[in-house]
Amino acid sequence: MDEEIKKEIRKMSLQNAFEHGGQTQDKIILGKILGTKPEFRTKVKEISGEISEIVASVNQLSIEEQQKEIEENFPEVLAPKEKVEEREGLPELEGAEQGKVVTRFPPEPNGYPHIGHAKAAIINSEYAKMYGGKFILRMDDTNPEAERMEYHAAIKVGLEWLGIKIDTVKSTSDDMEIFYEKGLELINSGKAYICTCKRDDISKFRRERKDCKCSKDDPDKNLKNWEKMNQKFKPGEAIVRFRGDMKADNAVMRDPVLMRIIEEKHYTLGDKYRIWPSYDFAVAIEDSIDGVTHAFRSKEFELRKELIDAILDALNMRKPYQGFFSRLEFKGMPISKRVIKPLIEEGKVSWYDDPRLPTLEALKRRGIKPEAIRKFVMSLGMTKANTLAPFDALEAFNRKFVDAESIRLFMVSKAKKLVVKNLPMTFVEIPNHPVNDKGKRKIEISEDFYIAGDDAEAITEGMQIRLLGLGNVSITKVGFEFEGEFVGEGDTTNIPKIQWVPQKTAHEIKMIVPKVLFNGEEFNEDSLEELDVYTEPHYLQLKEGEEIQFVRFGYCRKDSHNQAIFTHK
Ligand SMILES: [Zn+2]
Repeated sequence: MDEEIKKEIRKMSLQNAFEHGGQTQDKIILGKILGTKPEFRTKVKEISGEISEIVASVNQLSIEEQQKEIEENFPEVLAPKEKVEEREGLPELEGAEQGKVVTRFPPEPNGYPHIGHAKAAIINSEYAKMYGGKFILRMDDTNPEAERMEYHAAIKVGLEWLGIKIDTVKSTSDDMEIFYEKGLELINSGKAYICTCKRDDISKFRRERKDCKCSKDDPDKNLKNWEKMNQKFKPGEAIVRFRGDMKADNAVMRDPVLMRIIEEKHYTLGDKYRIWPSYDFAVAIEDSIDGVTHAFRSKEFELRKELIDAILDALNMRKPYQGFFSRLEFKGMPISKRVIKPLIEEGKVSWYDDPRLPTLEALKRRGIKPEAIRKFVMSLGMTKANTLAPFDALEAFNRKFVDAESIRLFMVSKAKKLVVKNLPMTFVEIPNHPVNDKGKRKIEISEDFYIAGDDAEAITEGMQIRLLGLGNVSITKVGFEFEGEFVGEGDTTNIPKIQWVPQKTAHEIKMIVPKVLFNGEEFNEDSLEELDVYTEPHYLQLKEGEEIQFVRFGYCRKDSHNQAIFTHK
């Protein structure tokens, strides 16, 4: 291993530790090295060992010591970075008038809201805000088979949690009479027809770009079939199709479905209606009659733009501007109901608020702040590049919000006993935050402590350790239980500085550590780690839902008196 690369590893470790409260991790540094020095990708094993050693020695330093070393050896790290252009806000809208912009978010109430919904809702509502306009939440509820009041309610709660100001709440199904009227108008004018072909034949003709026999029926025949759709036909036996273009390259335009029969009971309308508009038909009509001026959707709807415009042209109705952005999904955290639902049914995840999921409920429970989601989404803006965002990207925004507010507490996992002789005090007072004034807490102590198992492993007889906030201890015995003599203030250079918990008042909690749910296509069986840990009794005084930082572990959210959830480093 040449000296240059060791120096580079040391520099990166110091910089990363210094920027993150004094601690860094092997895998972060490995990632950085491989990112900047691709030639090392074939020598991962070799440099991993080196990185472990360097990271461990950097983590032993206090922040002040890290800063000193950076100033002496790597002053370039502290030089002001060139300002990275942060894309705050969204690009201006062409032709948008102040006070006259109307946007909307039309979720289907067929599942719990997730990060993808958050993006669509935030972008649309931000545009309304930017132009002093109006934002509509419209439940797109015209497929009674899948929709439930439970989801309807969850979507509203989710948007409120995100802090989105909603001017109007409505449901697409409020306008059923209008869909019937417009559907009939299209049938009467010959711009729509009723198709009674079998499903397979419809697909086949679409593939072969050929008209079916029904497309030649005259309006009279179509009107008779419409009557039958209301009573006689069974679901799937007849559909209303828009007369598009069976030869079109855009397959969406090949005489798409406008209305179909669904006999399932609707969650608010019951069995009042039997014929329901398709997604495209509903969106086209609703956006037009709701006065929507700008409709922003994720990119997978881009091919439907042509159809929505064509439907509105056929009805001589006003068309909104349609814009598109990339779909938001985190790597290893799928948002699809088809993936999540079976996981819940099989008991692989507990419920929609399981902290491994990308639902808003789950993100909230994990300790992600709504402001962080908003900032994160705004930073992505209107780009259309489809990439899977790493969850770290959201964490970086969240850290800015939780760092200032989270009090610091001690917590140890895989606890080991440590007896400290000659302690001169019976309590210590420790500030709750290293920088901000968050008060102090008094911790009663006796000679019996718990320290973390991982720290204990590195302790040898005769060495000194620093119990944070307390003082140095000289270790006299190692083994199943550790013993030491209190030294007090002393040299802290190059000695382990560790957190502790008094045995007498230790409060046991379960620590839930969510990890990535999928590795590629495969469910990660180790995606949930549960640790039995001890923390200070002060934990009991915190409110449920409060974010804390367990020193040298990371940010966590208090889920209950007996359970905390790891948010992120
Ligand atoms: Zn047909």
